[in-house]
Amino acid sequence: MFRIKRLYIEASAQDDPVTRRVRQRLAHLPVEIIPSREVLRSAGPLTPADISRGKETLVLARQQGPFWRACPGTKEYICCGYQILQVMTNCPLDCSYCILQSYFNLPAITVFTNWEDLWQEVAQQATAHPRQVLRVGTGEFGDSLALDELLGLNRELITRLATWPHLVLEIKTKWHRVTPLLDLGPNPRVIFAWSLNPPRLSRQEEHGAAALAARLAAARQCARAGFRLAFHFDPLIYFPGWEAEYQQVVAELFSTVPAAAIAWISLGTFRYLPALKNIIRARFPASRIVEEEFITALDGKQRYFKTLRAEMLSKMREWIQTQAPAVFVYLCMESPWLWRQVFGFVPSTEELAKKLDERAAAV
Ligand code: SF4
Repeated sequence: MFRIKRLYIEASAQDDPVTRRVRQRLAHLPVEIIPSREVLRSAGPLTPADISRGKETLVLARQQGPFWRACPGTKEYICCGYQILQVMTNCPLDCSYCILQSYFNLPAITVFTNWEDLWQEVAQQATAHPRQVLRVGTGEFGDSLALDELLGLNRELITRLATWPHLVLEIKTKWHRVTPLLDLGPNPRVIFAWSLNPPRLSRQEEHGAAALAARLAAARQCARAGFRLAFHFDPLIYFPGWEAEYQQVVAELFSTVPAAAIAWISLGTFRYLPALKNIIRARFPASRIVEEEFITALDGKQRYFKTLRAEMLSKMREWIQTQAPAVFVYLCMESPWLWRQVFGFVPSTEELAKKLDERAAAV
């Protein structure tokens, strides 16, 4: 199951059904019972070695805070109103650009096991907002699918969320093994979403993730099973000759999956917190992605110059909408100025969220 080499279990999580399932499936690993996952937390930022070790370490713990949270978004930028189910933090895949490397100070993948509380929170939110479309997902702090054969989370989520027609689940991933979930279709309230990059970038920067062809083949399987799809060209990464390779990905996308199955496509250019630069250089010495020119943006992140961002986003939009004029394209965490450059208008966060809600409900 990926490269997981160490398993820690909080004493209070030992009897949860998902804990028993994981122990069974990782029976070859020694288990250490700990009083709390806090004993693993580092006093300061994680070292590059800690981060690498964290990709091989799994902690099963009880969620002490809420599972259901509004996506934090990013200050000064336009967000999409996504709701996060925080069932796990950190990820077994290892993308060089992953912001999570500088985000957590606990060197492990944590899976929260008190799912009875998760289902209760979902029910509370669903009944508290009966007339509002709620777009939810587990993919903000990790990959929604990569550990699914270990956890069995998506099967339960899809089944339980089906109770409420105004809840739409987006399963965001760079993984490809969807076969165990296909019998749950058709269900247009479930949107399988892949993040895409050209194959060369994927090989160089998205370690452990499925190849582009495998992601697209999985997307086709999901569409045939009656699920809807989404795609995220995020992060778009600049390199000399990026146009031809990204244009090729767009062409492959539309020759593999039916445009009518696509709920939305988002675009976002590469950005990172300053602390990530040295981590990327230390952990991925062959990577060149932080060697371009960047400016410090309003949210404190390093971003490409505005003119380059505008060019990349506008061209991607044009290539996508030439192939599929009706597909809804939006920008993820980009500035009002860029919205105007790329689309000729600036939505408020509420307007963008409403548009996505309408797309989510349009089944
Ligand atoms: S798949 Fe997403 S969460 Fe996982 S390492 Fe890559 S960028 Fe990070």
